[in-house]
Amino acid sequence: MNAPATLTAVRPDTAARAAPDLLAWEWIRTLVAFDTTSRESNLALIECVRRHFETHGIACTLTFDDAWRKANLFATLPARDGNATTGGIVLSGHTDVVPVDGQPWDTDPFAATPIGDKVFGRGVTDMKSFSATGLAFVPEFLRRGLARPVHFALSYDEEVGCVGVRRLIADLGSRGIRPLGCIVGEPTGMELVVAHKGKRSWRCRVRGHEAHSSLTPQGVNAVQIACEIVTYLASAARAFLDRGGHDAAYDVPYTTVHTGVIRGGTALNIVPRDCSFDFEIRHLPFDDPDAFLADVIAFAQRLLPAMREVAADTGIEFDALSTLPGFDTHGESEIASLGADCSGRSGHGKVSFGTEASLFHDAAIPAIICGPGHIAQAHQPNEWVTVDQLARCEAFMRRLADRVCVT
Ligand SMILES: [Zn+2]
Repeated sequence: MNAPATLTAVRPDTAARAAPDLLAWEWIRTLVAFDTTSRESNLALIECVRRHFETHGIACTLTFDDAWRKANLFATLPARDGNATTGGIVLSGHTDVVPVDGQPWDTDPFAATPIGDKVFGRGVTDMKSFSATGLAFVPEFLRRGLARPVHFALSYDEEVGCVGVRRLIADLGSRGIRPLGCIVGEPTGMELVVAHKGKRSWRCRVRGHEAHSSLTPQGVNAVQIACEIVTYLASAARAFLDRGGHDAAYDVPYTTVHTGVIRGGTALNIVPRDCSFDFEIRHLPFDDPDAFLADVIAFAQRLLPAMREVAADTGIEFDALSTLPGFDTHGESEIASLGADCSGRSGHGKVSFGTEASLFHDAAIPAIICGPGHIAQAHQPNEWVTVDQLARCEAFMRRLADRVCVT
């Protein structure tokens, strides 16, 4: 039997968890509920979004990874005159999220949970809420009719090097779709961002020579060689800070260099044979990452003669891991002025983290970045976004609708 609800049955914490008053709330809940950690398939999420578009009579184009486990989704709401290819606005978001493994979460990471003035969940900031807001506006875009196309670009594998979107962008080119510009909804606190740094990363593998640790002169210590190179990287980083060019518009206004992972050695009483480490440069447009790498390789080569005097089969190798170009629209493109109108802000910023924006930009689709939440909350346990940021994103989308809709 159903007991009648009484006021005393509502506990205070339940009230604090009431659903926020947002058009996009159901879509935020829906997208966050899919575990789209980059190692997992995103097809269940893609299928859910595809059904949404098909309900509204919009066909989607999917581009898959080689294993057919993941897909990008591209959907076009055509202009009222039938134009589906030229001068449109792309709303871009990645569907994947970073792992929650080992992180101390207080709520279920795959359930968007409102508590007070925040919403918690993996991807609420980076970056399912922007995509959810766009999806929630599909009925309004269609009801009001569009003066220019609005495209949705949802990608896979952004968090592992902007891998998926490259296929989506190639597909656009081959189908002759030439948008006016692209809005990438990565977290910027809803501020307009018109540039980000480029990023290159490499793995350095040092092959030394094993020996009993009481006989160190008969060995080549790969860990120590690697540390000499890591120390050189730290000095290169300092040189960019001290002598390199600066651009005060960036949150970190100079090129940075960083070593993030190092692995080497097996036991203290063995001179280690192998050591490898991963490092990256996040560079401003006027600093050349190839010149930086050449400099590091030249330093490593100066270590080789002493290593080979002990053992001929020693060596140092560098493998490229990832490349993401930087971009800078200088705030002068049409999409930047549209973004400024929609964000209601004057001025624009530049950021140090990489996004898919530079890949759109390189494909002659000018891009800006503007999305709810802040990058500092991304990738963290208890990732959160404020309801205020989500409301601002909704206001942005409404102003965009006012500018792209006929009525
Ligand atoms: Zn992101």
